[in-house]
Amino acid sequence: MATIPDFPIGTSTAVPGLESTFVDEMGGLSVPWQGAEVPDPKLLVLNEDLAASLRLDVDLLRSDDGVAVLAGSAVPAGAKPVAMAYAGHQFGGYAPLLGDGRALLLGELVGTDGRRADLHLKGSGPTPFSRGGDGFAVVGPMLREYLVSEAMHALGIPTTRSLSVVETGRQIYRDGIEPGAVLARVASSHLRVGTFEFAVRRGEVLQSLADYAITRHYPTLTDLPATGKNNRYLAFFEEVLEAQASLVARWTLVGFVHGVMNTDNTTISGETIDYGPCAFLDAFDPAAVFSSIDHSGRYAFGNQPAVVKWNLARFAETLLALVDSEPNAAIAAVTAVLDTFDARYEHHYTAGMAAKLGFSGGSVDRTLIDDLLTLMEDHRADWTGSFRALADELRGDSTPLDRLVPREHIGPWLTRWRNAVQQQVRAPAEAADAMDRVNPLYIPRNHQLDAALRAATDGDLAPFEKLLEVVTHPFDHRDEWSEYAAPAPRSFTETFRTFCGT
Ligand code: AMP
Ligand code: MG
Repeated sequence: MATIPDFPIGTSTAVPGLESTFVDEMGGLSVPWQGAEVPDPKLLVLNEDLAASLRLDVDLLRSDDGVAVLAGSAVPAGAKPVAMAYAGHQFGGYAPLLGDGRALLLGELVGTDGRRADLHLKGSGPTPFSRGGDGFAVVGPMLREYLVSEAMHALGIPTTRSLSVVETGRQIYRDGIEPGAVLARVASSHLRVGTFEFAVRRGEVLQSLADYAITRHYPTLTDLPATGKNNRYLAFFEEVLEAQASLVARWTLVGFVHGVMNTDNTTISGETIDYGPCAFLDAFDPAAVFSSIDHSGRYAFGNQPAVVKWNLARFAETLLALVDSEPNAAIAAVTAVLDTFDARYEHHYTAGMAAKLGFSGGSVDRTLIDDLLTLMEDHRADWTGSFRALADELRGDSTPLDRLVPREHIGPWLTRWRNAVQQQVRAPAEAADAMDRVNPLYIPRNHQLDAALRAATDGDLAPFEKLLEVVTHPFDHRDEWSEYAAPAPRSFTETFRTFCGT
């Protein structure tokens, strides 16, 4: 394993103000490192609003010097870039050393909202954690992460954000030769369950890591004592569990399939991270799997809550010694918290479904939800389109729903649903408008995203830019965007697969 002796000396002034609390406070969890040379950098996309919210100067970022920082070839003055270490359970098997094999943490920025955020590069070259991988990334998958993460943000779902993608001019060998790229990602942190799995085997750093994570993400807990029944580590576990239960419920509500929910891709902050083989459902199918490497369906759409809970159990194991010095008492305490996961998920899911179906107040008859989902599954109804069609139905326009489910099948359910909606104080038209505020019209549809990424890889960014504009305005109906609301042709959905690790 090659190492460089100390932090690289930065000279770029394009990204001033980078701080490094993680590096300074969490010794042993990262390695000083820097990105590879970039032969011919070209800025493909820059998120100007996000840059401004991080107090970054957009003109500076667009300059040669700025693009070099975003590509990983120039180091900002005063920065302490590192590759972070972590472990993880991948598809259920434990890998004791993963880490940033093609990524760098450049440092932290405090945004205009006062919140600390990591600035991180993905695809910046080999590191001591590359394990035989080339350390690089390519244009298609980096633009995919950019667009899907920004779409998730626009949908109101906690997620890492994307600041830029730079094409590097390097040729990368995948299935064939692909253009290289670096994504600049912004996250409230890059602490993962896998970070704790790594730290717990290094004993003494575990408590400082937990305290660091608490201060950064759940600062109200810092007042709690370190030991005793009401200790801050058990409360910390509960906060992470709540954040993840809420997150995975939000994924379900928009039909999002993450695709590679390993513990190194499960954040402590509760943000969605690592958009690899992810996809949004077209037709509703709880068994939907899009990833080409998920042969067993472990990370299928309907399995996501169970997998998050499994990942949280791995997280709990890392915290046992902090929760109680007596092992059986520690296990009992974390198990009691873990056992609340199903009810918490159910609460977020049911409240979200109530809103999607036009009910105010957060509750709805569970059989009404389940019976609708059975109909949607039987008829392979488009997930996103169905909820918009139901709102149209309330307004008296039955055409959209007729395209999705035959009336003779959905008729009795519609009667039950209408009756329930009419029992509310608000008028059905008002309920329909409220539904349209929570049910997106535009999501990154697989067939459109695929086509846009193929064009971008061949040098035409126009379809990507257009799709990005549409999916970052998911609730704004525009007549000229109608093709983006339409389901994929069935021939496409039956064969669609996404590919991991690219
Ligand atoms: P991911 O599936 O992106 O969450 O990555 C899982 C692990 O594989 C992480 O440790 C990555 O850094 C590493 N990895 C993925 N792709 C590459 C690559 N091309 N070169 C080196 N490491 C990689
Ligand atoms: Mg990952």
